[in-house]
Amino acid sequence: MEKGGNLTTFNGTGSPSAYPADKKLFTPGPLTTSATVKSVMLRDVGSRCEEMKSNTSWIRQKLVEIAGVSSDKYTCVPLQGSGSYTVEAVLNTTSKKDNARVLIIVNGRYGRRMMSMCEYMGVEVHPLFIDETEAVTGEMVRIFLQKDKNWTSVAIVHSETSSGTVNNVEEVGQLVKKECPGTFYIVDAMSSFGAIPLDMESGQIDFVVSSANKCLEGVPGFGYTICRKDILLQCKGRATSLCLDLVDQYVRLEETGHFRFTQPTHCLLAFRQAIEEFLKEGGVNGRAKRYKELHRILCDGMEQLGFKRYIPGKCQGYIITTFMSPQHENWSFETFNNRLLALGQSIYPGSTTKIKNTFRIGSIGRLFPDDMSHLIDCIKKVLSEMDIPVPVS
Ligand SMILES: *Cc1c(COP(=O)(O)O)cnc(C)c1O
Repeated sequence: MEKGGNLTTFNGTGSPSAYPADKKLFTPGPLTTSATVKSVMLRDVGSRCEEMKSNTSWIRQKLVEIAGVSSDKYTCVPLQGSGSYTVEAVLNTTSKKDNARVLIIVNGRYGRRMMSMCEYMGVEVHPLFIDETEAVTGEMVRIFLQKDKNWTSVAIVHSETSSGTVNNVEEVGQLVKKECPGTFYIVDAMSSFGAIPLDMESGQIDFVVSSANKCLEGVPGFGYTICRKDILLQCKGRATSLCLDLVDQYVRLEETGHFRFTQPTHCLLAFRQAIEEFLKEGGVNGRAKRYKELHRILCDGMEQLGFKRYIPGKCQGYIITTFMSPQHENWSFETFNNRLLALGQSIYPGSTTKIKNTFRIGSIGRLFPDDMSHLIDCIKKVLSEMDIPVPVS
């Protein structure tokens, strides 16, 4: 630590006192992280050293355990970049150009993003569109899959963070494998992994994708896939991108213990700490319990203020919630958002495709019931500053 620097003193909220205070992030990610997760990044560690090697190997092993599968059959491959890079890497690694036919089940923006990825790669891709206010079930895809079985892979999003809808990906997986044997089944579980139970074995999922900065509460810098080893190795030679070739990344990780190219060293140190804290909280069940409680406080508080939710209760997960903007001449999301930001509260614009006037509030990240109650108080205050009477209509 440099002499005279303020970095050694923490103000109790997790921010070194030399910096402005942390914002509370009620967003789809990156999320609020603990002071301890941030603090382990205050040191430099060489990339190719034993410490990084054992740190990476520990993380990979724990992620397989958190996924609830055996490391004989499954492995974890981390990759630099945000979560989308790993999603694209899985699609690229599994799809041989000129010889792939990919089905994306789409009920929101992240499903659409997977379609764009395939279009960029020049891979044949077909969407199966389902309304964004509905959670995908096995029944909804059965007839489609019975009519057209010839897919190299089928991909779906678990928790559609663009709306808050949670899809029944296990049911869909069972149908995919029954109707189209030999097809790879890929799940973007970015905003659900570690917080919503997911059974890879019973859902017959070959690739699950998530990233460091979602529900495991690390900082942004890399994504990862947990996948069947045999299926991954079957894909050797298919990738059309060196950086996104997960087979190459996997082989080199196994051989050397390191990422192929510059690794996100600080982020990897932080992620180990984040996983330790996750396990201490009771793993998936512990985290789910806290997020459900946050979601309940959010929904109750917003309902009292008169806000309506966009996604019907039975399809709505406890990760992120879309609210309808109030019908009032003084309403402007920009003003609402900026005033909340001035109070240290960060929410998010809507991302719905069917209707325009929505916004989102996340209930994930290092947040506790008091933080959520405080957000509701701040929203009440901002509405009053904007001269919008409550309950809003
Ligand atoms: C966050 C997220 C992603 C990845 O987004 P990045 O901005 O690349 O991190 C992908 N899918 C879902 C469902 C997400 O919530």
